[in-house]
Amino acid sequence: MKIVVDWDRCEANGLCVRAAPDFFRVDEKDTLHVLSEQVTPEQRARVEKAVRDCPRHALSLSED
Ligand code: SF4
Repeated sequence: MKIVVDWDRCEANGLCVRAAPDFFRVDEKDTLHVLSEQVTPEQRARVEKAVRDCPRHALSLSED
């Protein structure tokens, strides 16, 4: 699976970072970075939590 970000919706508030810090980082300029786009089945639950926690609905998972 792959992480997809709707950059027009993201406001870099960092809630996804709390859920999955190994996938997301917000830098000092308040820009979100996706550290790894690919998600293994073992990692999926944490990334799904990040998707759910995003108040802007900016994150989704695609089948690839
Ligand atoms: S939780 Fe959503 S709005 Fe906040 S930084 Fe992550 S993707 Fe952007």
